[in-house]
Amino acid sequence: MAGTTQSRAGAVLGIDLAAIVANWRLLRARAGGAECAAVVKADAYGLGAAQVGPALAAAGCRVFFVATLDEGIALRAGFAEAARSGEGVAEEVPPAAIFVLNGAAPGYETELLQHGLIPVLNSLGALEAWGMLSDMLGVRLPAALHVDTGMSRLGLPPAELATLAAEPERLDGVTLTLVISHPACADDPSHELNRRQRDALVAARSHLPTAPASFANSSAIFLGDDYVFDMVRPGAALYGVAPVPGTPNPMNPVVRLDARILQVREIDSGMTVGYGASHRTDRRSRIATVGVGYADGLPRSLGNRGSGYIGDHRVPLVGRVSMDLITFDVTDVAEDLARPGATIELLGARQSVDDVAAAAGTIGYEILTSLGTRYARRYDSAGL
Ligand SMILES: *Cc1c(COP(=O)(O)O)cnc(C)c1O
Repeated sequence: MAGTTQSRAGAVLGIDLAAIVANWRLLRARAGGAECAAVVKADAYGLGAAQVGPALAAAGCRVFFVATLDEGIALRAGFAEAARSGEGVAEEVPPAAIFVLNGAAPGYETELLQHGLIPVLNSLGALEAWGMLSDMLGVRLPAALHVDTGMSRLGLPPAELATLAAEPERLDGVTLTLVISHPACADDPSHELNRRQRDALVAARSHLPTAPASFANSSAIFLGDDYVFDMVRPGAALYGVAPVPGTPNPMNPVVRLDARILQVREIDSGMTVGYGASHRTDRRSRIATVGVGYADGLPRSLGNRGSGYIGDHRVPLVGRVSMDLITFDVTDVAEDLARPGATIELLGARQSVDDVAAAAGTIGYEILTSLGTRYARRYDSAGL
């Protein structure tokens, strides 16, 4: 990616759309004959739903999941814009289905409908509200139903599922297009909850009208065929996050973050660097300052723990992470490489999103969704 650093921004975020599409194809193949949806909530995990959505749709992805009504509206607009500009899907392809995981906020059901969004109904109350809208319009509106099998988060709890089993007429007003549940521990293949949740979904389906089912997020796709059902819902793995921690990552890397060195300072042994004087040099040192900080989503916990790369040279992040700045010890790197204007790789081939997450004590998901708005974003669609 030579030249990507020519920018007035302090850092360039490169997002490889072709890699996202390749990851989607890989997951689809892994899921055998099941439908492979794409989860693009939180602005496609911070990478831009307006770019990612149309790229995946053009590759054949027909089903998308967002978290909120506003995300659904934005995605629908992104598809329309891509179609207008000729970058997206051909017009004869039917519009993609967009499911809203958090459902409709009470009173906003009509708005979902207006934008062609399908709610994931998470309670009997939500089902009733959607059914009332159906009645009013004299049609059976499509809906997905989320059954809680062990997350204790969203979805029908067991008691509501029992009510629904006893009073199936509650579903009369809607067309059930999908039944989903969500795994709590799929990133730990040995966890016994995986099997229990999967079996609970199978049991729940036996009480519901026939409809396709979906259980697997990224990690659960790798638990085996039993977990695939009719549709899989990967998010993180599309964006390069390792679906099975502790094993080689089969996904293609998607993001690069290259930050420009603003200044290099030569300091004596015994000097300190940054807020709190948390790093003290034990030799004469060169310190490179880079214009990226926690306001750009770089976790503050990377202070004295993170790394950057100049070419193949690892340079340790020393001192605290400031709001807009970080500092690296570049003493061991040749001066002509570690100079103002040169770049330090913060994410890329030498350190993955998962590597940075591990150093920061978090998960790749949080690193991606925290990526800030001050980067110059470069979308690479070569090969699409
Ligand atoms: C976020 C989410 C997903 C995607 O999960 P990943 O672990 O990112 O693959 C799938 N289903 C639901 C209900 C979600 O909330």
